[in-house]
Amino acid sequence: MDILNDDLLRYAEQHTSAESDLLKKINRDTHAHVLMPRMLSGHLQGRILSMISNMIRPRRVLEIGTYTGYSALCFVEGLPEGGRIITIDINEELEDRVREYFKPWQEKIDYRIGNALDIIPTLNETFDLVFIDADKRNYNTYYDMVIDKVRPGGYILADNVLWSGKVLDAKPDNDTKAILSFNEKIHKDPRVENVLLPVRDGIMMIRKLSL
Ligand code: SAH
Ligand code: CA
Repeated sequence: MDILNDDLLRYAEQHTSAESDLLKKINRDTHAHVLMPRMLSGHLQGRILSMISNMIRPRRVLEIGTYTGYSALCFVEGLPEGGRIITIDINEELEDRVREYFKPWQEKIDYRIGNALDIIPTLNETFDLVFIDADKRNYNTYYDMVIDKVRPGGYILADNVLWSGKVLDAKPDNDTKAILSFNEKIHKDPRVENVLLPVRDGIMMIRKLSL
């Protein structure tokens, strides 16, 4: 289920800045050669992530779920001088392809292959922006692992929180239950402000309060 109908989505894309040549290539290659290309952020969402990154100008970004690198490169667009993104993915089969895409931005991107559940606790950094976009069952755990690593006034974005509309199912499956539980948890957490942005598959925008 898409929130916007195809014609409106096309109109929105036609009035949204174009993807860079590299992002266009990643988009094309992913659809041609990689399993589950729907996971890639794509044109409209990618421009939103880039716009958000340019608004925040984050010095440190953490991305959980690199896939083919599309969203990571969108965040790179807003990094200030000396800014860096750590991006984690468990799928080593994509590594060579993704390292090739990241080559022009090597010094800004720290690409780690492994289970985010193991890697995140080893990160001794404070993040200005975190993007949670890996396995949905662990969203709560990822949030608990990163919240103390986000600076007060920093942001967390979590993707796919409408889960193709399945959040409204009468009998939700396990992944949907995990998303429902995450959305409830964020909404009740007094440490943060949140907006469920109904774009594409839903993005939970979270701002950590300065208490
Ligand atoms: N952020 C990308 C899409 C990510 S798709 C974009 O917007 O273009 C989700 C990714 O999460 C997949 O590549 C998958 O391999 C990865 N993933 C799933 N479980 C993981 C885990 N436990 N640790 C790290 N990555 C994981
Ligand atoms: Ca996603």
